[in-house]
Amino acid sequence: MWIRSTTPMAERSHSPSIMRLFYTVCIWVAFVHCTNGIPWTQEKLHHRAVTLTPEEIQTALSHTDLEQMWQRDLRPLLVTRYPGSAGSQAVQQHIKTALGSLGAGWEVTEDSFVSQTPYSPLPFTNLIATLNPSAKRRLVLACHYDSKYYPPQWHGKEFQGATDSAVPCAMMLELAKALDEELKAQKSSDANLTLQLLFFDGEEALFQWTDTDSLYGSRHLAQTMERTPHPAGATDTNQLHGIDLFVLLDLIGGPDPRFGNQFPSTSHWLSRLQNIEKRLHSMNQLVNHNQAVQYFWPNHPVGHIQDDHIPFLNRGVHILHLIPSPFPSVWHTFDDNEQNLDRSTIQNLNKILQLFVLEYLDARPANTTNHSNPSNPQNAP
Ligand SMILES: [Zn+2]
Repeated sequence: MWIRSTTPMAERSHSPSIMRLFYTVCIWVAFVHCTNGIPWTQEKLHHRAVTLTPEEIQTALSHTDLEQMWQRDLRPLLVTRYPGSAGSQAVQQHIKTALGSLGAGWEVTEDSFVSQTPYSPLPFTNLIATLNPSAKRRLVLACHYDSKYYPPQWHGKEFQGATDSAVPCAMMLELAKALDEELKAQKSSDANLTLQLLFFDGEEALFQWTDTDSLYGSRHLAQTMERTPHPAGATDTNQLHGIDLFVLLDLIGGPDPRFGNQFPSTSHWLSRLQNIEKRLHSMNQLVNHNQAVQYFWPNHPVGHIQDDHIPFLNRGVHILHLIPSPFPSVWHTFDDNEQNLDRSTIQNLNKILQLFVLEYLDARPANTTNHSNPSNPQNAP
């Protein structure tokens, strides 16, 4: 009895170990299958940014130059540029020329249309710059280049819309210029993920903000992208599926901005910006940024704000809305001009944004050595 009873015991203990092995193999096969067979539209949910070393950061950020950005890209944008105006034409031309002159080889396309407005039908043009159009996935940076229209009774005063949104557009051009080499290298090393810059027309209401008198450009482009198969020839996916993350910059350029959290689904990316701010602070890369200064507040919820992300949000795109809360004190006044901009803040945000993009795309400066070292513990997710 006793011996008999031990034999089945041995058999029983053997049997679970075989089952355990079997299950382990099953789980492993399933894991391998899932990680390799994941639909490309879901890859964004698993995306992890890399962490550059301090040396790589130093090198990568050595090309950004606030004074150059100011003269080359900001000044040309500080003109009256409501939809259909001569200033709008000039700004469009400037953006196209600036991106066209870079070595990375941006494809710039236009999304032009005419829309009824409270005054009359007006022409609108969005500009879409894509680093590598054949890449399925895109990190998107977006701003609006139009300025708010003030009717002729304000004659003699010019609304510059410096924070709204000349500075964000200039920051995007500066990013493309400063990271030209890194983006060029990234384009040839990663065929799957790229950077896209959107410059919207007609964000502002022409008369008074309503669902139809606002967001002219972004409403049109979101619709167009939804109708456009992506990748080319796809039957069940469109260009909106290609957006990993839609980062909208607005009302940037005043002192002491605080970016709160509107969207729990992208909190981790706001936390990443906070982390980058801390890292650059500790490297003495930020100017007039003492210990008490903090731009990014992932744990500070703020209410939803109507802006160019809305038509994309409504179609399921993941949004990171970089707009200060509260708005700058000069918002929609004639004081939103060049004189009231805060140079230190803009310079700091340029660096933070540039590092965010580099790390998201795993784009490293060319002349540092230990890149793509998988044993670098900082690269762990
Ligand atoms: Zn505005």
